[in-house]
Amino acid sequence: MNIESRLAQIGSLEDPATGGVSFPVYHSTAFRHPRLGQSTGFDYARTKSPTRSVLEAAAADLEGGDAGFACSTGMAALQTIFAMFSQGDHLLVSLDLYGGTYRLLERIMSRYGVTATYVDTNDLDALEANSRPGTKAVLIETPTNPLMMITDVAKVSAWAKRKGYLVIVDNTLLTPFFFRPIEHGADIVIHSATKYLGGHNDVLAGLIVTKGEELSKEMAFLHNSIGAVLGAQDSWLLMRGMKTLALRMERHQENSVKIATWLKAHEAVEEVYHPALPHHPGYEVQQRQTSGNTGIFSFKMKDARTIEPILRQIRLIAFAESLGGVESLMTYPAVQTHADIPEEIRRAVGVDDKLLRFSVGIEHVDDLIADLGQAIDAALNEIGG
Ligand SMILES: *Cc1c(COP(=O)(O)O)cnc(C)c1O
Repeated sequence: MNIESRLAQIGSLEDPATGGVSFPVYHSTAFRHPRLGQSTGFDYARTKSPTRSVLEAAAADLEGGDAGFACSTGMAALQTIFAMFSQGDHLLVSLDLYGGTYRLLERIMSRYGVTATYVDTNDLDALEANSRPGTKAVLIETPTNPLMMITDVAKVSAWAKRKGYLVIVDNTLLTPFFFRPIEHGADIVIHSATKYLGGHNDVLAGLIVTKGEELSKEMAFLHNSIGAVLGAQDSWLLMRGMKTLALRMERHQENSVKIATWLKAHEAVEEVYHPALPHHPGYEVQQRQTSGNTGIFSFKMKDARTIEPILRQIRLIAFAESLGGVESLMTYPAVQTHADIPEEIRRAVGVDDKLLRFSVGIEHVDDLIADLGQAIDAALNEIGG
């Protein structure tokens, strides 16, 4: 069945007791055993809980994996995955990484002797050069944010298989609607479901999908042992959001391409980072491996002095962290999402004080362009440009 149908019908056939089209929220944390040695399949909700199970099965189905695990946040999902590693293990990780993932690796996993090297994950020579005896996995974000760097997941997976490394892909930005990394050789997919999957800026959640029996068993063990699981109410909210994912992603994509094209032609703008624009590095790989583009992109103003007034003057677009919701949000990565990444690393990849990141919502594109246009004009006026 096509993904649009599977998304719209999440949970709709799963409640035989009532036939409820929307799967109910089971708050129970404890489940009666019919008798000694018997179970309904549910014993204690940290291990397995009915509403969460429906979400987890949907996640595995959408990503083409074998098992899904819902966590309290995207960071909790990453922490659960990283718990697979032991002292002395080493990871190869995408440059221009989500700031929270960088912080988790550098300030927490490092205490347990798990280290990471940040490389352009699309460059096999760089990956090879930074491999070591303790290397266990490659962690890929594609596109990265804010700079939208693209990695060819099939190419890296083929290389990683030869080396015996796991491939973990953070698929938060594209979602399974546009990209399914497991089909390209990835072993584990992780999502901050807080973003596009939830889609309404109103629920924090993380998802993990694993491929293969052994890996799925190990992840089930870690998920239950660590306990950073998603509650029943939030599992339901997330499924409710996911039902409209296809429609939302199509509109996010359409709006973001139109606005990026408009900005590219604007004289006050130095550069636009959007994988759907043919001048973007990695454009061809992105076209080949995905069926569409995310609604987030970045742009660099020519004059850093315009940033503060733009963020003050936007009205419809909110100056706020996060991304992937129906409401448009604009972020200043250098001081917000990427503040935990040292300045040298940030500058080396190009996250500087002229860069803005735009998570384009599903409002009417003309209204968004009008808002951004008036904010840029006001900013240029203020700096006397
Ligand atoms: C937001 C985000 C995370 C962290 O997810 P939370 O739900 O905020 O914990 C991880 N990776 C990416 C790419 C993100 O955008």
